[in-house]
Amino acid sequence: MNTVVSGIRSTGNLHLGNYYGALKNFIRMQENNRCFFFIADYHSLTTHPDPTILYPNVKSVLTEYLACGLDPEKSAIYIQSDVPEVVELYLMLNMHAYLGELTKTVSFKDKARKQPENVNAGLLTYPTLMAADILIHNADQVPVGKDQLQHLEMTRNFAKRFNNFYKVEYFKEPMAYNDGTEPIKIPGLDGSGKMGKSEGNCIYLADDAKTIEKKVKKALTDQGPTEMNSPKPDCIENLFTIMKVVSTPDTVQYFDEKWNTCEIRYGDLKKQLAADIIAATEPIREQIAYIDAHPEILHKAVTRGKELARESASKTIKEVREIMGFRNF
Ligand code: AMP
Repeated sequence: MNTVVSGIRSTGNLHLGNYYGALKNFIRMQENNRCFFFIADYHSLTTHPDPTILYPNVKSVLTEYLACGLDPEKSAIYIQSDVPEVVELYLMLNMHAYLGELTKTVSFKDKARKQPENVNAGLLTYPTLMAADILIHNADQVPVGKDQLQHLEMTRNFAKRFNNFYKVEYFKEPMAYNDGTEPIKIPGLDGSGKMGKSEGNCIYLADDAKTIEKKVKKALTDQGPTEMNSPKPDCIENLFTIMKVVSTPDTVQYFDEKWNTCEIRYGDLKKQLAADIIAATEPIREQIAYIDAHPEILHKAVTRGKELARESASKTIKEVREIMGFRNF
């Protein structure tokens, strides 16, 4: 059985992109893999070191993870800071990580540009912390978005370097998770390529029906087609892309035909799209409300998750300490 590790930063609510692009796959993965899903609260300190938002953010991501169907009976669902072994491995890997490779990382350069007032060492060593998260369970596979592929490549380098330096075959070189399905990219409603927190164009899983209706109503559209069977501009294609995910094929076909015959009314399309997004996400909102009313569910899930994660992590740290030459007196 393959070991799969995935983390998400605790920097706010989950949106449709997170759900269809990541969580739905996680839910499938947990059926036939040994899965570790964690909330990366240490990582969030690199950009959001605010004690007033740390806990509420972790709580909302955890609630939403569970509400989407991640199952603590099938996977280890835990908080990164509950597993101190990760920090120990992070320190050890940092001793074999070079300034040159860390400063060259695309995400570091990007963040350093975005927050020039706070180019901290945590930002620089983000990839070693991510490598520690993965290697602490000696993972085979990691589900990663395109933006994280470079970090996974670095994780493989750190694993190889460790093995070479200490002349062992200890760490596996983790690969990107691939189950043969095409990754889904959920676009923004503002005509942009991607729905994302920093783009400010998200429909959140926790949004109520009215908010979803309002957001969809405001989605960018054009003047409408003037020629039969013409290609759709990006902003319209985006609405169809979301529709393909939340609506029935009949609905998509109906509006496709209306587009092709130049009879499309964007008001109708948006009404239908909003209704279908609301219907698709309603069970998640019901679960969120249920978990909010029963906080013991969170406690039970992370207590179990921490136990499973520490069991796996402490075995790794014990073996790594041995390899590196640490001995007890
Ligand atoms: P983020 O919230 O940007 O840290 O994203 C966490 C994960 O959610 C990413 O690694 C992707 O797998 C997934 N994700 C985020 N935004 C989208 C999107 N617009 N479309 C598809 N997947 C997404």
